[in-house]
Parts: sequence; C-alpha cells; structure tokens
Amino acid sequence: MKVLLTGVNASWTHSNLALYYLRTLITDLSHEVHILELTLKQPVSEALEIIYQAKPEVLCASVYIWNAEYWKQLIPEVRKLIPKVVIIAGGPEISFNQKSRDAVKPNILIEGCGEAAFRALAERNFACSEKVITGERMPLEQIPFPYTESDKARLHGKMIYYEASRGCACRCSYCLSARDEECEQLPVERVKTDLHKLIALQPKVIKLVDRSFNQNRKWARAIWQEVIKLETDIPFHFEVHPDWLEEEDFQLLSQAPQGRIQFEIGIQSVHPQTLRMANRKSDWNKVKMNLEALRMRTAIPLHTDLIVGLPKEGNDEIRASVDAVLQTYPHELQLGFLKILAGTPLAEKASELGYIWSETAPYQVLQTSELEFDEIRLWEKIAQLINQYWNTGDFSTVWRKAITWREPVQCLFELLELNLGEDRQLHPLSRIKRFEQMAKWLRANRSDFEQQYLLDALNWDWCRKAEEAWYPDFLDGSVALQFRKRHYKAIKEWLQNKYGQQSKLNCSRFIVFSASSGEFSRDYLQGSSNAVFASSRNSENIPVILPSIF
Ligand code: SF4
Repeated sequence: MKVLLTGVNASWTHSNLALYYLRTLITDLSHEVHILELTLKQPVSEALEIIYQAKPEVLCASVYIWNAEYWKQLIPEVRKLIPKVVIIAGGPEISFNQKSRDAVKPNILIEGCGEAAFRALAERNFACSEKVITGERMPLEQIPFPYTESDKARLHGKMIYYEASRGCACRCSYCLSARDEECEQLPVERVKTDLHKLIALQPKVIKLVDRSFNQNRKWARAIWQEVIKLETDIPFHFEVHPDWLEEEDFQLLSQAPQGRIQFEIGIQSVHPQTLRMANRKSDWNKVKMNLEALRMRTAIPLHTDLIVGLPKEGNDEIRASVDAVLQTYPHELQLGFLKILAGTPLAEKASELGYIWSETAPYQVLQTSELEFDEIRLWEKIAQLINQYWNTGDFSTVWRKAITWREPVQCLFELLELNLGEDRQLHPLSRIKRFEQMAKWLRANRSDFEQQYLLDALNWDWCRKAEEAWYPDFLDGSVALQFRKRHYKAIKEWLQNKYGQQSKLNCSRFIVFSASSGEFSRDYLQGSSNAVFASSRNSENIPVILPSIF
C-alpha cells in the first residue's frame, strides 16, 4: 500500500524522529513508504495539495501539542478529498487528549508507544476492526537506527533528533514523562556506532531527545567521552538534570572543544515549596553551584528554563527565580509558561488548585490563584525581552556588569518600559535599534562611574559583531574612529607581523575600540586604552589589545 508518514514541524530546521522510526520498522514489508515533513508556516491548503497529489492509501499523522490545531484543520479536508484513505494518528497529544481525538477522528488511533502497534498494522495491510489500539512498548534496542543514507539531502543543515534512552526517572506533575513506567538506555557501543552514522548525515545540530540524559551518570559519561573525541563541527545538544552533575562530569566536560556540546537545563523554579508541590526533586543551592561550575570550567553554552505559573508562585517568587538564574550568567534563559496537559498528574487537580487555562493547544495557563491574567502577560513580555536582549548574546558584556549593580529583573522591567510601544505591546526591533534602546537605558538614572563603564561595555559588544569599521551616532565612537584613521597602516602591519600566520584572522579588516572608563580598561584591556576587533572567518570578531606604541 502507499503509506505517507506525515509530520508537521514547528520550523523547517526541525525534523520528526517518529516518522523515521516508523519507516525503518516496515522497510522489509512490501509497502511503498514516503515521509512528508510539513511546517506550521505552510498554509493548510498547501499541505492539502501535497497530500492530494501524493494520493496515499494510508496517511499516518504524528500529532503533538504544537501541531494539534494544524491537524484538526487538515485531516477533515483530507478526508473529503481522499475518502478512501486510512488515517492513522498517534503521538502524545492525541494519545491523552479526548478533545483532539474527537476533532481529528482518525480511522485508527494508536495510544502510547507507536512502534510495535504500527508494525503489526502494516503486517496486516492496515486492516483493523478496532478504532483504538494501545501500543505495546517495543524495547528501544529492537528499533533499528532510523535514518538512511538517502535521507542525507533532506536532513542536511537541519536539526536531527536521536534517542539514546527512553523514559524519565522523575515525576514532575506538569510533564507527560511523569507517566513513564520504565527507563531504558541503548548499550553504549550501539550509541557510539549511531553517533558516527548521524555525523555522516551532515545535520546542523544533533539533538538527543532523552528526557534527562544524565540519569545514569556512568552511561552518560561514556557517551560524552565519545562525543568529545569525535572529529566534527556538528554540535550535540543534551537535556540534562542539573542536580545530577558531579565533579567527574565537570572534569570530563571541560575537555569538550568549543561548540561541540550544548546543554539544556530545566530549573523551573528556585523555591523548595514550589518544587515540592510540582513533585520535582531539585535543590537550587546544588543547581546553582553546578551551573557556575559549567560556566567557569567548560565551553558549553547553557540554555536554562524556568516556568511561570507553577503552584504557589506569584510575582515575587518568579522574580526571585529569574534573578537567581540570571545571576549565574547562563547563555540563555527561556521563561516558559505552565501548560495544563491532559494525561499529566497536574491536569487532574488543576481546577481544584484554581488554574484557568486555554482550551486550545498548547493549553497555557491564563490565570492562577497567585497570578492575574495581566500579570502573566507582563511576564510574557519579559520573556520576549529576555529573548531579544539576553539570549541573542548581543549584550553579554553589558549584562555581566549591569546585573552586579542592579537586580536582573529590575533591569528588565526598566528596559521593558523603554521598549513598549504606545499600544503597551513589544514589537520586534532590529539589532541596531536594540543597541540604541540599550544606550538610552544605560544613560538614564545612573552614576557617571556606572554609565561610563557600561557604555564602554556596550561599545565592546558592538565591536564583537560589527561587520564594518563604523559606529552609529548613539554609541559615540568618534575617538575610536579617529584613532583608526590615524594608525590604520601601522596597526595593520603590526597585526600581520603578530597574527599573519593565523589564517582565521583578517588583519586588514578591523574596528578600533577605545575605552573611556579606567575600570573597564583594567577588566578587559589589561590597563591599555585601545583594542582592535579583527574580523574572523568562523566566529565573531576577535579582540586584540594594542600596545602603548600606538
Ligand atoms: S520535566 Fe523533565 S525531569 Fe521532570 S518528569 Fe519531565 S522530563 Fe522528567
């Protein structure tokens, strides 16, 4: 039969591991199997056209929270145009949410794990008298490596997903993984072999979807060790539980080359009472120490997560969590918002706890017993602001110092006031406009000392990513520009003598930085007044301190 395995990804850079699993499980059967990966950005009419032209006899829909609404629109239209198609749906959203089941109305619904049930269906040509099948768990080790050489073109430059373990030992009340009854890990040798196959596909990032990768510490270390040894530029992304990191991990991870490993770290809250109520075992004091150790001893970019709307959390508690996490200076903080997901322990008591949430996926909370709707909206704006001003990495030098003089959340609220439009909403800004807003914020309500230091930091941040030797007016780079004009030839020669052998440095393309704050010059320039940022092939511009001869 002609089978179309279909997924709807959040972005074109993503891919859907489930589709590749299902394909690999039935390759020995005589079906004609195709994978179709759509994105949420594609109009439903376009998706419909592609499916209509493919004329599948079986359409398999992978339904997640983020694409549930899309499927609810698409499936009824498919059914009208291809009435004989057998629609099989599976995935976490449709497994647990009755409303989604009623809206999608597949011919066959696979609840829970899909692999074994799908294989059994394919063996009998998708003939099935039951409308709902409960999927038996197939041991992870029995599922073959999901990708083939022929996927290379499709996956090139995308994020590719891989599952080295399945299940989570934790029972956080808001999470669907709290239902997992078993945790299993692939043997280390199998993972090592698979890692080489993944690299050969040349994706942009290899993302391990394991819920808490380091729940078996010894096993995790053996895999990290292999990842560190690999010869590749492709980064590996892991979700780790911060409480479970130990000295042995830091020693190992400190050997990871720049860009090889990325960490996503769920913190959710720093308050013991909240964590207890969410059934999440975590100790902020330990997490803080571990974050600091990762930051200081490794080159791993840290993406941290907090959740707004957890039980017993009002504005003060959220504020304290954001302050505490940002003070550890992570590369990114994602301020997420609690979702009440059908099938989670929290969903069973959410009404009793006073939650009001959206009926539409992703079922985000609208109000809690501690937070009014407009307070949640305000935190959403702060989350957007963090994305624009912190997570881009554009202002990392400014933030490093600014948050030692003012609490991070106070800084964010001050910046928010400057950024809100007349409609009191946040609108996306270009990079240069964000620099202008930052300069405005740094010039307001500060001592001369702080202002001078932070404006130097802002200029430094500008130079790190400047594409040409130019400063916008609000940064006042006149001294640096004059200096460059006067010494261009001499600096170029000096750079060539000193760094000419380094192929990644372009010695004729540089922007000059001139410090005006003595404190800043001590922190960044070893007391000198000038530096140049030379353009570099693979990364941002590289700072080089100029000697006093200039
Ligand atoms: S939130 Fe993370 S640690 Fe908690 S149950 Fe879910 S996957 Fe496990």
